[in-house]
Amino acid sequence: MSDARCRSFLPETSSVWVSGLLLWEWREKARQQARQADIDEGEVDWLLQRVANLDRLTLRLGRSHLPEHVKVDRSLTDLDRLWDRRILDRTPVQYLVGQVSWRHFDLVVSPDVLVPRPETEAIVDIAVEAAGDDRDGIWVDLGTGSGVIALGLAEALPEASIVAVDTSRAALDIARHNATAAGLFDRIEFRQGSWFDPLDALKGRIRGMVSNPPYIPSDLVPQLQPEVARHEPHLALDGGQDGLSALRHLARTAPAYLQPGGIWLVEHMAGQSESVCKILYDCKCYRDVRSIGDWAGFDRFVLAYYCPTSSQTP
Ligand code: GLN
Repeated sequence: MSDARCRSFLPETSSVWVSGLLLWEWREKARQQARQADIDEGEVDWLLQRVANLDRLTLRLGRSHLPEHVKVDRSLTDLDRLWDRRILDRTPVQYLVGQVSWRHFDLVVSPDVLVPRPETEAIVDIAVEAAGDDRDGIWVDLGTGSGVIALGLAEALPEASIVAVDTSRAALDIARHNATAAGLFDRIEFRQGSWFDPLDALKGRIRGMVSNPPYIPSDLVPQLQPEVARHEPHLALDGGQDGLSALRHLARTAPAYLQPGGIWLVEHMAGQSESVCKILYDCKCYRDVRSIGDWAGFDRFVLAYYCPTSSQTP
């Protein structure tokens, strides 16, 4: 990707030196606004760590530990504008700076992709455990968005080939950028298209399919918190009337693409586990269908293995 295309999704910045005292006053004001707006005031420090390159300890130790002058990526006026967008428009703080950390990757994000959630981090570990000792082969991340699952798989399965698919060209640009920044660009192939559509050549050969597809029922999307409903891409959230359209599609189409014994692994919304398992049982070609919880104890993932002759029922 050319530099120009890459830059288009990173916020414009130019550094200025700001007095430590003024920056501290800005922090106090922003924290107060956050409290009044019922936003976690810790987000102010998250922002300052990124735009002013301050570490958490310095911020915690307080005003007297700030240097006399701090180099900041934005003027205080620009920081005010940015924070207004957080408070008044409810823009997620990650979109304001165009960055997020996920597992140990530092990633670029824009409103073309979901902000990767900490809960999703576990899907990489589940995939690795499911792979057992057989860690090579072709793995696909369907609906890759910012590319996080593909990056996690590429890193955790060094002998595997990873293919990242998304229907959104803008999302793929971001995923490519993130793969390059993580030094994993050579490990991941990027394909534009809907789910398995661009993978015709891989029919019957895929070792693992991993996906965090849209799974929110359409009626619920506008009721999500404003950060999500107003700013995150509905393409990545809206799972149709019952939230299960994409999950159903993945269950029914995967058998043509997975190798026998191939892994089928998805994230879903809390409360959908039974429905997702039933969809798989009804396909009559998956074995060891298993529901897996996130660290908060909610069932959020379903894992299964493609078994062409299986007729397993619950
Ligand atoms: N986990 C996201 C949320 O909490 C939704 C992601 C998805 O639909 N795949 O809003």
